[in-house]
Amino acid sequence: MHEPIPIAQALELIAAHVKPLAEEQVSLEDADGRFLASAVVAPIDLPSFDNSAMDGYAVRAADTPGRLQIVGESAAGAPFPGTVQSGQAVAISTGAVLSDGADAVVPIESVSVDGDHLVIAAAVDPGAFVRYAGSDIRRGDELLAAGTRIGSAQVGALAAVGLSAARCRRRPHVAVVTTGTELRPVGTELRPGEIFNSNAPMLRALLRSAGSRIEQIAAPADTTEAHVAALDEALEHDVVITSGGVSVGNHDLVRDAAGRLGVEEVFWRVAVRPGKPVSFGVRGDTLVFGLPGNPVSTLVCFELFVRPALLALQGARAAAPALNTGTLATTVRRNPARDDFIRVRTRTADGITKLEPLPGQQSHQIVIAARADAVARIPAGSGELPAGAEVSFLPIQRF
Ligand code: AMP
Ligand code: MG
Repeated sequence: MHEPIPIAQALELIAAHVKPLAEEQVSLEDADGRFLASAVVAPIDLPSFDNSAMDGYAVRAADTPGRLQIVGESAAGAPFPGTVQSGQAVAISTGAVLSDGADAVVPIESVSVDGDHLVIAAAVDPGAFVRYAGSDIRRGDELLAAGTRIGSAQVGALAAVGLSAARCRRRPHVAVVTTGTELRPVGTELRPGEIFNSNAPMLRALLRSAGSRIEQIAAPADTTEAHVAALDEALEHDVVITSGGVSVGNHDLVRDAAGRLGVEEVFWRVAVRPGKPVSFGVRGDTLVFGLPGNPVSTLVCFELFVRPALLALQGARAAAPALNTGTLATTVRRNPARDDFIRVRTRTADGITKLEPLPGQQSHQIVIAARADAVARIPAGSGELPAGAEVSFLPIQRF
């Protein structure tokens, strides 16, 4: 029999079948959202020279307090060519090279100028307002670790040390196969009994947020031939995601069609609500996720099982579902057999995140899920969890 397996076991089985994708060189312009294949080492010191943190005057600290002669200027990109001698000062701008001989900067606000002389009333410490070479990173030190997701700050850091590209894992190429005779694409007319195919655009949005390249396969009707044809095309990709057709009805054909095409089923059914009929299989290096068709099941199963796999394929350091901890705002009944991921709104005050369950927790209620910003995990068990109970929750990604 196919007893539903625990979520943790499902995640282990998926992880065991993920092989990180190949590396490629990615220009900084395209690196946003990508994952580093290997550690990046700083090719230079940053800053690469001692420079001023303020607009002011470069001086010798030992000369302060005192009256100094202004002998020149060090502007950003235009250093003072000489050496500051005792009794001398050089006007300096933020980011300009700290002039030879000087060991401190006095900000403009702390001095008075008298012709070509500077009057400094208080003593200045050596090193004051100096940004030393290597104080951000030293040449040869690790700038970013392997598996880091490159975001805006990381692009800035890579560019600051002069790197125009980074070694990243290839983006997964993912085929989306939504199944069902009842499905019509948005933008067309519905006939009786038909529904808009909402999972296809939702999955594409989810996939974009997970760094994937998307191949949308035309949705097959509920016949074995149509399923086999769609899956045959889909199986050319790194990952196949199907929606619908993995339950026990006569028209649930995905697992059978996948089996005919040589997909080995790794598991079917997980002790999770929504999403119990979720399936996972492999053919060669291709991962095949059979997500249940109810839109909230599709969404939750994507976040629980598919996103971690997509991140792992890209070599992400943190690939597991990013569960946080919060407290229930109201009492919640537990499901005896399955971990229940209920749609909640989060509210954080004084460092505590309160989770407010939304009314309407059925797996077809995608509009209610769209008002939620997280799903809270109610562990399987008897009775209820009281208000104030601590539970984990998974933010629903918003991009
Ligand atoms: P199934 O697992 O195929 O029996 O589908 C379960 C429920 O999800 C049914 O009500 C389907 O009509 C619905 N459903 C399946 N696929 C989609 C889809 N792509 N978009 C919206 N609803 C779907
Ligand atoms: Mg169906």
